Amino acid sequence: MHCPFCGANDTRVTDSRLVADGDQVRRRRQCANCHERFTTYETAELIMPRVVKSDGSRESFDEAKLRAGMLRALEKRPVSAEAIEAAVERIRQQLRAQGEREVNARDIGEAVMNALTGLDQVAYIRFASVYRKFQDLDEFRAEIDRLAPKGSESGSAPSEEP
Ligand SMILES: [Zn+2]
Repeated sequence: MHCPFCGANDTRVTDSRLVADGDQVRRRRQCANCHERFTTYETAELIMPRVVKSDGSRESFDEAKLRAGMLRALEKRPVSAEAIEAAVERIRQQLRAQGEREVNARDIGEAVMNALTGLDQVAYIRFASVYRKFQDLDEFRAEIDRLAPKGSESGSAPSEEP
């Protein structure tokens, strides 16, 4: 890069180290022309895809909104903050990994539902009922039946009384 003092484009790195818990590289540079020293910081630029809403409008990805939606569904549920953060991070990585410039809001909704099924069934139902806007009660019931553990006999108590 160009020297900020004299504008020469021949500068060399004299020292390079990780800072900010490894999220940043700090480099000491020296200009080969005027010998001035300066420092540069390098961080990864993580670009999230734009979100295409169902009406075709676009908005930037909003992690706070994603988290808020999940937290609303998980309210008063026995799921740790770490587990929620890990799920948010997984969704972000998933969206980035697609390498697309745009992603459908629907796909984000599906990713959230996938994450919630793994975390808490009640939260999943809460989210899905709002998100999918179940057309009628039958559809909603079918979804709950789908989630109900299979092979469990009705009426059997979990205790082992004779
Ligand atoms: Zn210089």
